[in-house]
Amino acid sequence: MIIVGLTGGIGSGKTTVANMFIELGIPIYIADVEAKKLMKSSKVIKRELIQLFGTNAYSYGKINKAFLADKIFNDKDLLVEMNAVIHPKVKTHFKKWIKIQRSLYVIYEAAILFENGGYKECNYIITVTAPETVRIQRILQRDNSTKQSVRAIMVNQWNDAKKVKLSHFVIENKELSQTAKQVKNIHQKILEKLT
Ligand code: ATP
Repeated sequence: MIIVGLTGGIGSGKTTVANMFIELGIPIYIADVEAKKLMKSSKVIKRELIQLFGTNAYSYGKINKAFLADKIFNDKDLLVEMNAVIHPKVKTHFKKWIKIQRSLYVIYEAAILFENGGYKECNYIITVTAPETVRIQRILQRDNSTKQSVRAIMVNQWNDAKKVKLSHFVIENKELSQTAKQVKNIHQKILEKLT
């Protein structure tokens, strides 16, 4: 099975683009969504996160998001260690998921595809880009984040130029109708590569 990695910085429009591929019949695995589900359901992750952060990592059996966010916001090493707990489990889960897909290719969407080496397992990589100011604006409109919290996430992500260098396809996500055209074009190009 061909794996196409889909990445881009916070607010670039990864999920928006992923939804366009879904409309073309391509199965999408959203790593962040699956990671959150696994953080709830996996006893191993729960045990390892408690080892890392202490018992406050969970509250009444649920992940203590505010506590974890505060911890990793203040300590980059903890963020790396948290990813090291969660990422291998997501990888195993993805491998099981891929086995039941029946399409010419699948998309693996992750905000930190390059940063954690996951891109090496992809046959092709699509990076979604948008100017930083636009991305911040989009996130502020989407949820009740602050500029400061968006920037704190951005500093832990590679910049667009670095990602673009290692990508097979780049989608400039400005005007949505143009984005949809780029998606269709890339979909065709991938299909051509497969036949
Ligand atoms: P995150 O990194 O937080 O997961 P993301 O890269 O998946 O974000 P989206 O959630 O797809 O980004 O987009 C962020 C917000 O911007 C959403 O509310 C989405 O509807 C909006 N958005 C995405 N692309 C565009 C666009 N081209 N024009 C206007 N709004 C857009």
